[in-house]
This record gives sequence, structure tokens and C-alpha cells, in this order.
Amino acid sequence: MTLNRPRFLCSDFFLDLIYPTRCPACMRVIGWDMQLCGECESGLEYIEGVPWQAIFPEEINGEAPSFDRAEALFYYSGTARDAVLSLKNRRGVRFADYAAKRIVEKLAVDDGDDADIITSVPMHRSKKRKRGYDQAEVFARALSRETGIEYVPDLLAHRKNKVAQHELGMEERFTSADTTYHINSGTSLKGRRVILCDDIFTTGATANVCSRLLKDMGAEKVTVAAICRTDNRSDKNKSGGDTSAERREG
Ligand SMILES: [Zn+2]
Repeated sequence: MTLNRPRFLCSDFFLDLIYPTRCPACMRVIGWDMQLCGECESGLEYIEGVPWQAIFPEEINGEAPSFDRAEALFYYSGTARDAVLSLKNRRGVRFADYAAKRIVEKLAVDDGDDADIITSVPMHRSKKRKRGYDQAEVFARALSRETGIEYVPDLLAHRKNKVAQHELGMEERFTSADTTYHINSGTSLKGRRVILCDDIFTTGATANVCSRLLKDMGAEKVTVAAICRTDNRSDKNKSGGDTSAERREG
């Protein structure tokens, strides 16, 4: 796959003279108009050739998922893992643009036919304030720019957890996700088709709860779009580690 040249301004070129652009995965200096170095780009492990149902859980906590569809671009390993971890801070921002361009092809929503709005899994506001950055939102906004589909922030919100998600067992994670997210807006989503963006899909607990809340707001359809899916090829029900914790509990 070749790199599409992204939209960059002339100022990006001059800024690059002062702050050289770095590959979000390996931090090597790259061209000002590139998003990833060639070596890292060729090392990305795309999820391809399988229906989405084959890599996402059929049941989440014993029930059918609340979302209607889920797609992820890469397995969470190697280059993709490095790039997503660097997306936790501003160093990896270009990877969000790169992933957005790629997932458009997968979602086939570039004509806006299959979705009305884009939103993202929320981060707790104090954490976002402290970090100044929410990678799920950055990815969602990049997808909005790519597709022309409106990004709507703050439909959902995140309560502060007493215990960090990565300190919880599997059962507790599902219970925790149930109480962590809540509706944050009086906006009706009646009849609307929503794309819910996140950086990593792990157990599905978060995506499931957020999708249910969006449906409670009236959404007709929720499609989850994640940059990475933890590698569950050997065991469909495997949790894949503490990747949600890496993002949210940081
Ligand atoms: Zn690289």
C-alpha cells in the first residue's frame, strides 16, 4: 500500500525545518509530507480478508453486542502498537490521519452513505485537561475530515474510576465499564447512524457500553471503528492484555 500525500500547508514545510517530522512508530526523521516511514509502513499488520464478525466477539458479557458492526485496521502488535502508543501523546498524531485514511476504505463511508455522525469513546475530562489530548477524539476528527461526516463531541462522558481499569479482573472490567460511561447530552440521535471511534478494541466492554448508550439516545445503527484490535486469532475470547488500560489509565 502506498502512502497518500495528506493535506499539508506550506507552513508545515517551514515548521519541519525547525521541528523535523518524525515517524510516529519509530521516531526516525521522515519527510515533512509523510505520515510514517517506509519501513514502519511495510511492517503494519493489517486485518484483511476476514469478515468483521470473525475478529470481534459474538457475545460480550453473555449478550449480543450493542453495536451493529465493528472494524479495526491493524492487529495490536509491532509497528501498529508502537504507533498507537505514541498516539497517546502528540508525537503520534500523524498516525491518526494515516489510520483514518485507511479505515475509510474499510468502512466504505467516504460518500457518507452509511453514517450520519462520528463520535468517540470519551476520556475523563480531568485526564484530557491534564494530557491536553484524547487520542480517540483525534482519530475521530481525522475520520470526520476524511469523510465529510460531522464529528459530534461530548455525546457521552466518562466518570472517574476509583480503581484503574487495568487493576480489575475481566468480570470487574465489564461491571466497571457499565458504570464508567454515561449520556452527556440531550441530543436526540433518533434514526441516526453513528460511527464510534476508539484507538484499541480489547474486550469490547467499552465499545459495547458506549454503543448501548448511543442506542438509548435513539441511534439506529452504531459502527465501531478502532485503529487496532488485540490479536485474538488463537483464541477469540482472549482479552489480549491491558491495552485499554494503556490508553485510558495511561
Ligand atoms: Zn518508522
